[in-house]
Amino acid sequence: MRSIDRRAETCPAVLQSSSKYFHILKYKLSQGPSKVNKSIYGHPDVVEALKRLFSCKCSYCEILIDEDGIVEHFIPHCPERPKLAYDWSNLHWACQSCSQRKRKKKYKEYIPRTTIVKNTLLIDPTSQSAPRPEIAIWYDDKLKAYVQNTFEVNILAIKTVEFINDNLPATGRLITYASMMRFIAESECITEWKILSLQDPIDHKICPNPDVSLKALRAADRLYKLFLNNTNSFSTSMRFALGYQLGINAMDILRMSDYYGIISASAN
Ligand SMILES: [Zn+2]
Repeated sequence: MRSIDRRAETCPAVLQSSSKYFHILKYKLSQGPSKVNKSIYGHPDVVEALKRLFSCKCSYCEILIDEDGIVEHFIPHCPERPKLAYDWSNLHWACQSCSQRKRKKKYKEYIPRTTIVKNTLLIDPTSQSAPRPEIAIWYDDKLKAYVQNTFEVNILAIKTVEFINDNLPATGRLITYASMMRFIAESECITEWKILSLQDPIDHKICPNPDVSLKALRAADRLYKLFLNNTNSFSTSMRFALGYQLGINAMDILRMSDYYGIISASAN
């Protein structure tokens, strides 16, 4: 999970129109969830805006999804809380698996003595008041999520870790991790990356062999684009894996990747 700044995308017009209020009222007066109007919150404009905002990734597990993605209500709507159905700040882009698991009672806080959900017991990655997922949730060398120690009493962080470690995304993470490790092994640049990561600013001319360091910068660029960029599946956990395996963090790779862009541009 990674933080998302919802201000990057304006609320789609269909969720602002006056007809929305008519539907909120209609839903409130209805007897069940079937009266909610999916053509509003699931409107193609809303879907496109959510895909852009979440980089086509599931807001919970970070798997890349396109046609299989669904519009997910962070806090479930019901006739008692009809506004939640059409509230832009409550809509996320999610994979089917996360959407299913999120329905479990253990991830919900209920209004006492009712079946009305008061809150979802997970970090909302778009919330300004919830803990930032990249700070509260870390990954060990087996890619298992855990709560960073200063957040050990935070119920949202605890539940989010439990959610992230559920089977399907963990398997997907391991596959991506294996591909990343294969790429690193094949690029044969680990030693060069370690040398370059210590240089500030990077000067590939001082490396023993400029051709090798150029090859390393090029590989760092590819590594960043393929596995560490926010638009890739499981990028947050891959950044932690890189630190464990290479002793280099993703920011070093990004810096090298940026540097490679500068030298490629000046070469043209
Ligand atoms: Zn997911």
